[in-house]
Amino acid sequence: MTEPRALTRPKTLVPVVLFDMDDTIFDHSLTCRDALDRIRTEYPEFAGRRLEEVWGEYGRLLGVTHVDVMLGRRASEVVRAERFVRLAEWAGRPISLARADEVSRVYREHYQALRRPVEGAPELVRRLHRDHTIGVVTNNTVAEQTEKIAFLGLESAIDALVTSEEIGAAKPDARIFHRALERTGGRPEGAVMVGDSWGSDIVGARAAGIRPIWFNRFRLPRPEAREVAEIRSFRPARRVEELLAGP
Ligand SMILES: [Mg+2]
Repeated sequence: MTEPRALTRPKTLVPVVLFDMDDTIFDHSLTCRDALDRIRTEYPEFAGRRLEEVWGEYGRLLGVTHVDVMLGRRASEVVRAERFVRLAEWAGRPISLARADEVSRVYREHYQALRRPVEGAPELVRRLHRDHTIGVVTNNTVAEQTEKIAFLGLESAIDALVTSEEIGAAKPDARIFHRALERTGGRPEGAVMVGDSWGSDIVGARAAGIRPIWFNRFRLPRPEAREVAEIRSFRPARRVEELLAGP
């Protein structure tokens, strides 16, 4: 005799939800684009290129140079000024390090003034925190990410912050995820990781045995044909909660 199938099997509650910070909760990319737009109007060295080009090249340079900052090896101000030297070279209008230092400081002021969360993210984190333990796993410094959490008003909704600077290893290294599980009291099978970076968040979560959810708001092509849940917006939050409950 076969067992009757349960028609209303309760969904499993995933106890731990881990989030990436930049471009998942905090809107780095669009803040960066808007700050660069201001720089283009204030500094003629960067005005000859379209905003989308400058933004793309800045993002590429950030990808190349951010590793020293996220592991705490070099100060972000120094690396940012050097990035503007390289950006000006790319734009065909080389500048001195002193000039780049000024541009960098002005850029930072604009960035801080224009920054904002990813749409729907803070509300989602607060909502999930009612039933889940929330961790942030991020390739950045403790000081910078702690300040962002305060800016977003999420201090009481985030139970653990784990940064690459503190661990000395960056995503996709599984060690940073293992530490996040320790801090949140979670197990890999009882956790999900939500993040925008396939290379860091999806690959890293899988390496640690954690189910990933790809936050793909810019509708990028999928780098691998692997079955990974994908979400393009945090609204409505109910849809995200369904995904958390499992496929
Ligand atoms: Mg990210």
